[in-house]
Amino acid sequence: MATRPELATSLPLPPGGGFLLVPVGSERIRTPDDLNEQQREFYRVADRFSRERVVANADRIERKDYELLRGLLREAGALGLLSLDVPEAYGGLSQDLTTSMLVTEAMSRNGSWSVTFGAQVGIGTLPIVYFGTEEQKRRYLPKLATGELVAAYALSEPSSASDALGARTRAVLSPDGKRWILNGAKQWITNAAFADVFIVFAKVDGEKFSAFIVEKGTPGFTVGPEEHKMGIRGSSTCPLVFEDAAIPAGNLLGEVGKGHRIAFNILDIGRLKLGVGSVAGARNLVALAAGYARDRKAFGRSISEFGLIREKLARMVVLVYAGEAMSYRTTGLVDARVAASPAARDTPAFDRDLIAAVEEYAIEASILKVWGTEALSYAADEAVQIHGGYGFVEEYAVERIYRDNRVNRIFEGTNEINRLLIPGTMLKRAARGEFPLFARAQAMEAALARGELPRSGEGPLARERRLAELDKHLMVHVTRVAVEAFGPDLSEHQEVLAALADIAMETYAADSAVARALQAAGEGKLDPVAEACVKLHALEAHDRAWERARRAIRCSVTQPAAAREQLAVLGKLHDEEPLDLVALRETIVRATLEAGRYPLGWL
Ligand SMILES: Cc1cc2nc3c(=O)[nH]c(=O)nc-3n(C[C@H](O)[C@H](O)[C@H](O)COP(=O)(O)OP(=O)(O)OC[C@H]3O[C@@H](n4cnc5c(N)ncnc54)[C@H](O)[C@@H]3O)c2cc1C
Repeated sequence: MATRPELATSLPLPPGGGFLLVPVGSERIRTPDDLNEQQREFYRVADRFSRERVVANADRIERKDYELLRGLLREAGALGLLSLDVPEAYGGLSQDLTTSMLVTEAMSRNGSWSVTFGAQVGIGTLPIVYFGTEEQKRRYLPKLATGELVAAYALSEPSSASDALGARTRAVLSPDGKRWILNGAKQWITNAAFADVFIVFAKVDGEKFSAFIVEKGTPGFTVGPEEHKMGIRGSSTCPLVFEDAAIPAGNLLGEVGKGHRIAFNILDIGRLKLGVGSVAGARNLVALAAGYARDRKAFGRSISEFGLIREKLARMVVLVYAGEAMSYRTTGLVDARVAASPAARDTPAFDRDLIAAVEEYAIEASILKVWGTEALSYAADEAVQIHGGYGFVEEYAVERIYRDNRVNRIFEGTNEINRLLIPGTMLKRAARGEFPLFARAQAMEAALARGELPRSGEGPLARERRLAELDKHLMVHVTRVAVEAFGPDLSEHQEVLAALADIAMETYAADSAVARALQAAGEGKLDPVAEACVKLHALEAHDRAWERARRAIRCSVTQPAAAREQLAVLGKLHDEEPLDLVALRETIVRATLEAGRYPLGWL
């Protein structure tokens, strides 16, 4: 294949969560403008496949036509779409994360398919790519890359999924040392009905959490009946049962007792991709909602003329703009870290650096997962609402999308678990001295005590830059207050942690959207619609972040005088300047209705 894309970021790279530490726009982020021709071509190929082969067969997919699904996987394999993350030495294309993400975006037009595809190329294949032995890679990767073999990932169990390390499935080495004997059960396994290769997590001797490769047909291993699901009905989800299932000793994946590294790092990539795919799903919904709104008449007018419908459309577009900014920024950061690895590609040292890069941006991956899936939920809900009664019946695509999207907030770590991880990871890194959150808090507090608040300054998007700065102040300040209030017990105060996560998410979204627009402005190509999006988003994100900060303070500081004092500090961190929201909305909606889709597409 052609050369790897040039990276838009340069060394030294910001740490995970680094967006809180530096002024908005102070580092160049990757945006859709940075995509090279090869990446665009991958997207075009995947998008054509998605429209012509997947969307065109949506009804058959919905009826669980697994032969079709397997055939589609093989077709995708023939186009190279299953092998972007697979090293060239094993028949893959060895592309960067951004390219792989673009293909994920294209596949998001159908929920059942995107989950099937994601389980194949992501959680099913990547454990072998990153943690497999040479022999395991040679045995499985070439066939997974073509779709000849289908993969599944089995972490969840009937009694533990969020609490993955509480797994009860056991593995014991046979007395002759030649086989692992597995006993236990797994639950909710995507692709299970037709998969050939299963990545299965089990505890060696009931204690050491480890990963194994289990092949279909292994005696003692059975796949249970299909679940009857609310959405993504065309995908396969089944339980697995292991009754003295014996697999070769060589099918241990990674090291005994190190299964958590495989499980969690693979989930981080899964989260990132699910977030990115969800933003793309919201983008697809803009087209469905705008097209319907334009055509539907009520009270003698097109419903697209009504302010309430226009407000919904504008919000959807704004969320997509900010979501894209976060998506490309995050994958750009991971790619830049990987590119900075001194190790030769496809060597164990390179794989370690790759995993370290993903681990570094675990905070951003959780943010994208929660923010992206909730943006998609909002868009799906409002798209149904715009369709009125027709949105509630099967003939219209939004009905299925509404059902399909619901599971996104449940799998790849529920949104509750990911919310806890966002401040949890920051605080753990801060406590280890790896993330200077408290030094930043001290500097901010000192500045606030001197009456120095973030000011608008000069130049383009000055107000939006200030709003994003205020969001960072809110996050850092409220985190310090919560840590002071609860100390190590903060982990038990989940409402506070969730509020902190929400402020962090609003901040990352606003910071990324403003940075994206600033970069475009710097190159003299800031589209007026993009400008309206970032203005509307920065303000609304700030209002939401401020509300969540107030809630965090109310849950953390109960002594009335101290609470009043803290709320007064928050008052200083709230922007109250007027802004003509309706004018901004109109700029966005007019362009959206005229285009009949998301108006800022890059293809
Ligand atoms: C369609 C589908 C496909 C799936 N595919 C796969 C797959 O391929 N492989 C796989 O391994 N798994 C898969 N899963 C499983 C999925 O990852 C789990 O369902 C998910 O992690 C939640 O676990 P649970 O269902 O046991 O819910 P629980 O963990 O029981 O959670 C129930 C509720 O409690 C909350 N909760 C749990 N713990 C906490 C806590 N500490 N603090 C606050 N709230 C908490 C949760 O957020 C949730 O709201 C799939 C699930 C579905 C529905």
